[in-house]
Amino acid sequence: MPSQFECFQDGCSFMVRADTDDEVVHLVQEHAQYAHDLSIDAETVEAEIERT
Ligand SMILES: [Zn+2]
Repeated sequence: MPSQFECFQDGCSFMVRADTDDEVVHLVQEHAQYAHDLSIDAETVEAEIERT
């Protein structure tokens, strides 16, 4: 079951999709760091993951 996450920042169209939550969390954390200079914890990402 793929997991999907859309960035919560206004004006950001980043969206990631992967086979596992772990992968999504990792990619989102990297994106948040580089694109927004934010660090978000894994639980926050996991809570927002959509399972499609
Ligand atoms: Zn973003």
